[in-house]
Amino acid sequence: MSERKQVDNFTLDCYRNCPKMYYWRIKRQLIKVGERRTPIDFGVAVHLGLETFYKEGMTQTAKDNAFTKALEYFTPLESEGDKKRTAANLVSILDKYFSRYANEPFEVIATEVGGAFELNDEWIYTSRLDLLVEWKAPKGMYIVDHKTTYDIGSLIAKPHNQVTGYIVTLHEMYDNVLGAMINGIGVYESDTVQDKNAPKVVSEKTGKLIYATKEREIFNRIPTQRTVRECEEWKREVVFLLKQIDHCEEVGVWPKHSPDHCVKFKGRCGYLDLCNTDEETCERMIDGGVYIQDPWKAYHETGDVET
Ligand code: SF4
Repeated sequence: MSERKQVDNFTLDCYRNCPKMYYWRIKRQLIKVGERRTPIDFGVAVHLGLETFYKEGMTQTAKDNAFTKALEYFTPLESEGDKKRTAANLVSILDKYFSRYANEPFEVIATEVGGAFELNDEWIYTSRLDLLVEWKAPKGMYIVDHKTTYDIGSLIAKPHNQVTGYIVTLHEMYDNVLGAMINGIGVYESDTVQDKNAPKVVSEKTGKLIYATKEREIFNRIPTQRTVRECEEWKREVVFLLKQIDHCEEVGVWPKHSPDHCVKFKGRCGYLDLCNTDEETCERMIDGGVYIQDPWKAYHETGDVET
């Protein structure tokens, strides 16, 4: 039997977003030089802090080490133009998190766990689980997935392909699976927000009536479950997508999902220049170093970021 191929959620998401993006990122392994990645780096730093906090037993020493590791990673990457993702805000977010979740309703089993299972004779699905825990009451296994986001209210846990993949993976590892929990962490420039339920106050600056402010909620934990039927449906969908990817490969056609995904996130898709030009010019841009090869490494990249 030939060796099985591996796939993970990021790879599938590239294709779900735009087959051409899959072509550039996964097949050609390209990223644009100097592409802005502060949101990802900030997410990685938060992940490192939380990983240290939980791995080292949630003690004061664990917190101190968490600040150190997160700052060591992020400080050299801090970008002057980004007012939200600063080293000071990183410390503030971690500090608030450690206070809010000082007493967890679970026991930590492991952090940064690699998981894999056979989808079929051809494919293995792999994932990296942020935090594996055993809930105290009722007893059972949960996956906690840290997500940094600039819009905490927009997080959903279902439908969610990545989360379903985690739960299916967890079922392969344990019998008593309860589900997954999105551990949402909001990243904002300001600590306060308008309080539309409170009486208006007079602005010191303008003398006009304005809304009072209150402290902004930056955490949102969303527990979620999947039935056996939902897990089976997800597997069928993944296999279906893999067949589509194989078909694109066979015929050498990678459709562009333009323009929707090209400008979906705040900013533009990094492959816009390549998608806007003919094949020869594309290759010249690649040879000229505008894009470089950076193979996607499923287990090494952290910092799930909802951008
Ligand atoms: S620029 Fe648009 S069409 Fe091209 S890869 Fe990105 S999303 Fe797809």
